Amino acid sequence: MENLSGVLKKHFGFDSFREGQKEIVEDLVNGRDAIAMLPTGGGKSLCYQLPGYILKGTAVIISPLVALMEDQVAQLKMNGEKRAIALNSFLSFDEKKSALFHLSEYRFIFLSPESLMHERVLDALKRIHISLFVVDEAHCISQWGHDFRPDYSLIGHARRKLNKAPCLAMTATATEEVLKDIQSSLYMTEPILHVYSVNRPNISIMVKEARGLEDKLSQLSELVSRLEGPGLIYCAGRQWTEKTVSYLKETGRKRIAFYHGGLENEQRMLIQQQFINGQLDLVCCTNAFGMGVNKNDIRYVIHFHMPARMDAYMQEIGRAGRDGLPAIAITLYDPEDVQLPLFMIEKEFPVRDELQAYLSSIEIDPSFKLEIEETHERFILHHAEKLKSKDWNEKTDQIWKIIQERQQNKTEKLWNMVKWYST
Ligand code: ADP
Ligand code: MG
Repeated sequence: MENLSGVLKKHFGFDSFREGQKEIVEDLVNGRDAIAMLPTGGGKSLCYQLPGYILKGTAVIISPLVALMEDQVAQLKMNGEKRAIALNSFLSFDEKKSALFHLSEYRFIFLSPESLMHERVLDALKRIHISLFVVDEAHCISQWGHDFRPDYSLIGHARRKLNKAPCLAMTATATEEVLKDIQSSLYMTEPILHVYSVNRPNISIMVKEARGLEDKLSQLSELVSRLEGPGLIYCAGRQWTEKTVSYLKETGRKRIAFYHGGLENEQRMLIQQQFINGQLDLVCCTNAFGMGVNKNDIRYVIHFHMPARMDAYMQEIGRAGRDGLPAIAITLYDPEDVQLPLFMIEKEFPVRDELQAYLSSIEIDPSFKLEIEETHERFILHHAEKLKSKDWNEKTDQIWKIIQERQQNKTEKLWNMVKWYST
């Protein structure tokens, strides 16, 4: 095998591997499937890029967002790699046609799961030798409600139609259950699990108890007037984001906006951009906000309602403090809210009609139709079981135990930061 450190130095200019990278790279180069759970900023891209230089053929990387693909291509180009392309809507029809014709000339191809299922794309992929099959943000395969993407659950079917290349699934947050879903959904063969701590020591976590809406709103207003820097407020529903914004505006906050899936695309882009550029200090949002928002200096994340899932929670607070400087995550906890996650799951569950509407809106390889139906059936059964099983309450209890334990350890650091008593 080529000397990995040499390849690392040559293509990336780095002297050493970060935690987990070398082991993951070795597995892939040896032809094994792997699931990599590394923290945000932990260097997941390198885990597929380096083997991409060693293995013959073209690495196919599935990514959920155009912005993420463009980032990766730009990063590769900066490192001198010209043979990288993102097959997305930024390409004109002719550019795409030409790219598909010359597919084997690329070393790295980025695709959304949706374009992976286009007949023409899939046909072109069948004709080339794929060196590696990579799924970024692989938790989208399984997360219902939160970041779940119906098209993600079909990646595995497409993969089986291509030449058998080592498969790498990458994520920063996944429960054991989600990891199992990833493995089975992608039809991975005895993947090696590389799970590294996703603890982010610079984020302090705390829970503040609040009784009733009025109390919660006034605590929220108090918090945002004391906390510094850009912040996010997560709410459990669209109407809540609007309510909290109008309340905070009444109490004097100006550079603030709400963001949820019900807004026009353009409006959403605008808010993201303004937040990233520092024209907004605060965004009240649902879990529609976040993935692909590249902002390093978010100082605090407040949960106005308790999060529905541990992994969603980790991901949401993980958006804070990416620059490594202290950041804080606060949950306003009203015991009454325990009902909310259950309600949300029921509400956010894609029903058959929605799925079919979605399917008819995309151009799709006909052989997928049945498989989609089946996947959907399995999906519904899986979650119906969940809703029925009484371990849900146990789970929420566990979540709160973990959060509260961490809270105790971190309270001191937290107080320093918020300077609670100093004003
Ligand atoms: P992730 O996808 O896990 O969030 P990225 O792959 O985007 O993280 O990497 C985050 C940053 O870490 C990038 O700027 C990358 O160049 C850098 N990086 C990755 N691996 C190493 C390494 N072995 N040594 C130094 N920097 C690295
Ligand atoms: Mg990444």
